[in-house]
Amino acid sequence: MAEKSKYNFKCLEQQCTTVACHIRPTIDVTLGDLTRWSTQGYLMNILPGVSLKMPESEKDLISLELMRKPLKKDSEQTACIFFNEEANGCEIRYSRPLSCRAYPLEYNGEKYYLSSKDCPGVGQGEVSKEALQEARNLADQAFKERGETYTALPAVYSIIMTQMIRQSTEAMQNLSEDDRKKMDEMMSKPSETKEEPTESEDTED
Ligand code: SF4
Repeated sequence: MAEKSKYNFKCLEQQCTTVACHIRPTIDVTLGDLTRWSTQGYLMNILPGVSLKMPESEKDLISLELMRKPLKKDSEQTACIFFNEEANGCEIRYSRPLSCRAYPLEYNGEKYYLSSKDCPGVGQGEVSKEALQEARNLADQAFKERGETYTALPAVYSIIMTQMIRQSTEAMQNLSEDDRKKMDEMMSKPSETKEEPTESEDTED
């Protein structure tokens, strides 16, 4: 019997009232995303919005994610750094991370599921067999790339750190006697604390 599609979804884009995808707590970035951005020539534009998330417990791994910013309308809430509040849309729409392209469908290695039930696009529109297959392919690829990133990132991080430590050790060894003295002086100086202006002091130009 032919498989019946239960997945109906249509992104409401600028008409989305809940900005569902932009308020996702975590927007994963994979090494595959970095490679695609590099191929497209956008890596240096997008990279400032990517942060390295350090493990919070022994079970966690280092991961990459998009940074967040407070919403102008409601500073208690944050959204993806690439969410344009005025336009109610994504600033990097055509290069958005794979996890955004697959949203709200996810795959966990065993089954497909909805990552958000609050997305108002879920249940909207007709999804053809081809569109369903495409959505599943994206969710599969996102699952695969997440796995690759979790495996490779600690190694990449440790290579970068090792390289940085080696470079700074070499730089320290190559310091001249004068530079070394200057550095010792700098390190032994007490840190200067800026005094708060008193009420009588005018702080304006
Ligand atoms: S990258 Fe774009 S689509 Fe993805 S969460 Fe951010 S604003 Fe939304």
